[in-house]
Amino acid sequence: MAERVLSFEEALAEVLRHAGGVAAPRAVERVALTEADGRVLATAVCADRDQPPFDRSTRDGYALRAADVGGALRIVGSVKAGEMWRGQPLGKGEAIEIMTGAPLPAGADAVVMVEHTAVASGVLTVEAGRTLRAGENVVVRGAEARVGDFLLPVGRVMGAAEIAVAASCGCVELAVFARPKVAIVATGDELVELGVTPEAAQIYNSNSYALAALVRGEGGFAGRLAIAHDTREDLSERLAQGSMWDLMVLSGGVSMGKHDLVEEMLAEFDAEFFFTGAMIQPGRPVVFGRLPKRGGTAHPKDGPWSGEWTYFFGLPGNPVSTQVCFHLFVAPLLRALAGRNSVAPMFVEARLADDVRGGAKVTRFLPAEMVSAWDSVTVRVVGWQGSGDVAANARGNCYCVLPAGMEAFTKGETVRVLLR
Ligand code: AMP
Ligand code: MG
Repeated sequence: MAERVLSFEEALAEVLRHAGGVAAPRAVERVALTEADGRVLATAVCADRDQPPFDRSTRDGYALRAADVGGALRIVGSVKAGEMWRGQPLGKGEAIEIMTGAPLPAGADAVVMVEHTAVASGVLTVEAGRTLRAGENVVVRGAEARVGDFLLPVGRVMGAAEIAVAASCGCVELAVFARPKVAIVATGDELVELGVTPEAAQIYNSNSYALAALVRGEGGFAGRLAIAHDTREDLSERLAQGSMWDLMVLSGGVSMGKHDLVEEMLAEFDAEFFFTGAMIQPGRPVVFGRLPKRGGTAHPKDGPWSGEWTYFFGLPGNPVSTQVCFHLFVAPLLRALAGRNSVAPMFVEARLADDVRGGAKVTRFLPAEMVSAWDSVTVRVVGWQGSGDVAANARGNCYCVLPAGMEAFTKGETVRVLLR
């Protein structure tokens, strides 16, 4: 099988290219707004009426005509949030007490803040020297949105800000895309499942659980398949199962070891490989490709092809490698499969808290802790024992990116940080 090892940038571009090409999920579900957090919109949310629906006062104060400021004004009434002014339109030399969120009475064109006024025997005076523009402290009807305006596009993830918009339009339910189904397959003869007491040379399968959490966090439905031993039979069975899902994420078995059979077995399932390695550390042996999606038969490998693809990632088994590769490569593709219209991994910049040695031929992603203060954002690389060190990884909250080829990075220097 031909190796295809890409630079980090090329590998990411390859994933993003495929992410750009996947069709949005066809299945659409209706969910209650109260259950919509993290879901991806399948139908745009449009303004159900003008926003604001009336000329809205943004201050507690007095509604008046801006041109009247200067003279004494007669207070003719009061209007609070939730009610329309029912009296005569405001006339010259008049003012109406108004509260934040109340509709501006007809005839008024501005609101003066209560803090800038004085009242004596029903007569209002505005602070000497203060002028008011027409429109001041008022948001006119429709200024935020016109009825029918698109407020949230298809593909937007519902977070608190989006939920506020949907609620402000009265949406009790939303149409969202069905979650993509992601099969998670841990491979390795040394692995035991939680609940089984490991022998001296065995370890718990932690990757499946971390991957399931990551998948759910990106809006996927995570299915943990049984651990695959490093045998052709076991892998074949798992690939047959996994190729019925939308995405298959394998961990382990992609390095150069004698028992690393994952790529070989994927090839037997007619896999198309987009890359078989990336110049990153941790995570260099990462594999990305797709195989014909099967379905509906007892032995999917021999079953009819639906014309669809199951994308797969073969992630190195070291837990930090697994997680870094998820954030860099799996997450963008998964977001696309979930129907999201924004998929790229998120990098920010921060200042290094310490000197760090570079000089690697690969782009490094080191577990690090980002500390964000009011006037600075710094990142400190955490001490670790290498890519098997799950505990060190959990002491950090991000990954410090050290580009390939640079000799040294000095304290105070700005570096990129991969958020997680
Ligand atoms: P591999 O990529 O299969 O060569 O595995 C690399 C390292 O990661 C080995 O030390 C494995 O024991 C470890 N490893 C592989 N799979 C898992 C897993 N599912 N959970 C925890 N550690 C794993
Ligand atoms: Mg292994």
